[in-house]
Amino acid sequence: MFTGQLPKHFSPRKLAYQNAFFEGEVPVASCPRLTELLADDRGVVKVSLQFEVDEQRRPLIKGQVSTTIDMICERCLDVAEIDVVAPVSVAVVRNEEQAGNLPADLDPLIVEEEAVELLPFIEQEILLCMPGFAYHENETCHSGQEAYSTMPEGSAEELEPEPQRPNPFSVLAGLKAGK
Ligand SMILES: [Zn+2]
Repeated sequence: MFTGQLPKHFSPRKLAYQNAFFEGEVPVASCPRLTELLADDRGVVKVSLQFEVDEQRRPLIKGQVSTTIDMICERCLDVAEIDVVAPVSVAVVRNEEQAGNLPADLDPLIVEEEAVELLPFIEQEILLCMPGFAYHENETCHSGQEAYSTMPEGSAEELEPEPQRPNPFSVLAGLKAGK
């Protein structure tokens, strides 16, 4: 078992055969692709990863990556704390072909060389799970607006009538008439 300082690189196949377990934290500030999307870079990403080999001798990485990040609320434009919990269920494969043969519950991690950089891996898992847009919970939002969350998703678009496509011939006719 490995706790505290996480390694910079890891060898997923070797760790899988060793049944290794990682637990630790990395600062949000050390994830540049993530902080680009955030209101600030405070906080940590908690990492808990179990390496194992399945019945098909596939090296797997299972576990969880979680964090609380500060995003801008789209309603009041103030900072909202958003919890992100990213379950990790990854199979280490050598190429696209092996990736394509995986069952739906396993995400491929294509590793040709032995060492994988840990930070980009963790960052990617968070990016896949975080919301594209952040909103405060209704009672904590500073906008004073009623939330839209009672409305089923997509209904706003459905209410808008489909724009009528102008008949190309009538447009042409209009152009001619305007001359
Ligand atoms: Zn808000």
